[in-house]
Amino acid sequence: MARQPSTKQLSDWDRTYLWHPFTQMQEWEQEEPLIIERGKGSYLIDTEGKKYLDGTSSIWVNLHGHRHPSLDRAIKKQLDKIAHSSLFGLSNPPAIELARALIRIVPKGLTRVFYSDDGSTAVEIALKMAVQYWQLRRPEAGPKNTFLHLKLAYHGDTVGAVSVGNIDLFHGRFKSLLFPTAEADPPYCYRCPLSLTYPSCEMACLDPIEQILKERHRELAGFIIEPLVQAAAGMLTSPPGYLKQIRELCTKYNVLLIADEVATGFGRTGKMFACQHEGVMPDLMAISKGLTGGYMPLAATLTTDEIYQAFLGRYADFKTFFHGHSYTGNPLGCAVALANIEVFRKEKTLARLQPKIKAMARLLQPLRKLPHVGEIRQQGFIVAIELVEDKKTKKSYPLEERVGHRVTMEARSQGLLLRPIGNVMVLMPPLSTSLPELRRMVEILRESIETVTLGIQSNTGS
Ligand SMILES: *Cc1c(COP(=O)(O)O)cnc(C)c1O
Repeated sequence: MARQPSTKQLSDWDRTYLWHPFTQMQEWEQEEPLIIERGKGSYLIDTEGKKYLDGTSSIWVNLHGHRHPSLDRAIKKQLDKIAHSSLFGLSNPPAIELARALIRIVPKGLTRVFYSDDGSTAVEIALKMAVQYWQLRRPEAGPKNTFLHLKLAYHGDTVGAVSVGNIDLFHGRFKSLLFPTAEADPPYCYRCPLSLTYPSCEMACLDPIEQILKERHRELAGFIIEPLVQAAAGMLTSPPGYLKQIRELCTKYNVLLIADEVATGFGRTGKMFACQHEGVMPDLMAISKGLTGGYMPLAATLTTDEIYQAFLGRYADFKTFFHGHSYTGNPLGCAVALANIEVFRKEKTLARLQPKIKAMARLLQPLRKLPHVGEIRQQGFIVAIELVEDKKTKKSYPLEERVGHRVTMEARSQGLLLRPIGNVMVLMPPLSTSLPELRRMVEILRESIETVTLGIQSNTGS
């Protein structure tokens, strides 16, 4: 076997050949990259053997820890049979068994599974299915092919997914490529677009949404939403009952509800799926990140029998859903996803998570008093700490000060890996994280916030 290149060698090659996602490469090239070689449980281990707590679940995907024996075994076992064969005109056992297992755990009423490779493609598929559904269902009516979504939404980085997203920093440059949509204000209660306060507002933000639905339902194919938590916006948690109301409005105006559970699915919010907190059945649902327990790129779009039936006909009717990817239904991915669902059952992951969610809330409580912590939002094992320059006026730090990034680098030096969203610190550990590990994560996060934000204060004062 070839000798493993040294850390120095890898570091040079990285900066010579790689282009990293969401990364200013000019800055990247000037620093030594942290190169992760291994993982174990809640820890990531770099090429020098240094251990770090994985505070983001490797960007929101890992659930049961790294190197989980059952998940490792599932891939090895499948590899002894075949790595990949196609779902075009063929089938394979893991893809079949996973589809059946998924239908048993998703909101009741979703009955069909269409595979793809990542969250963005699962969203694209939901959008295309919705548009084609209305063509097939009501061929005589005018086009019903527009989408309603919330401002600050994030549904992925491919062009269709960006069209229904609204984070200007990421999406602004590509406006000319995007299809037009209808947008509504999100329930960002800390910075309420209507300047109201929950619960006395009685969720007045739903009124303009109803207005849009009333005026434009004839052209609206669907309302796409991140249920309970607008993740990439900074983990904006919606007030209880909000999602249920959205469901009722969509039903009332005959607009499909598309739930993007890519970030919230698989236990992250405290239930298997976020929709299940409010007994909501979406018409289409996109899942990915946690689907394989953070092991392999795999995604699925699920839908109802009503939508599925509309696509049926003789071949010559050309009602077929003409969409697919080379790796659709990849057996390795499906095998590990199946094992992931099995781990939830065997290890009672969701039941064991509940006391840890409460512990997390308790651990975070003292951080609320810090002078630059504007708000702490928590939904299950998703936590956001919004840092502000001025707590009274909620004035944000200027983005170019990179406060979130500086807190992240401080935390890294203490052994915790994070990825902030602007000035919002995100803590999203694997569901398997132990109580002592959780305690240590919050402790490092607290110290790092204090070091950086109080440092800033004394700088401006001098
Ligand atoms: C991450 C994410 C996506 C995109 O998934 P990728 O696998 O990165 O393409 C879509 N929707 C939500 C809510 C996400 O958090």
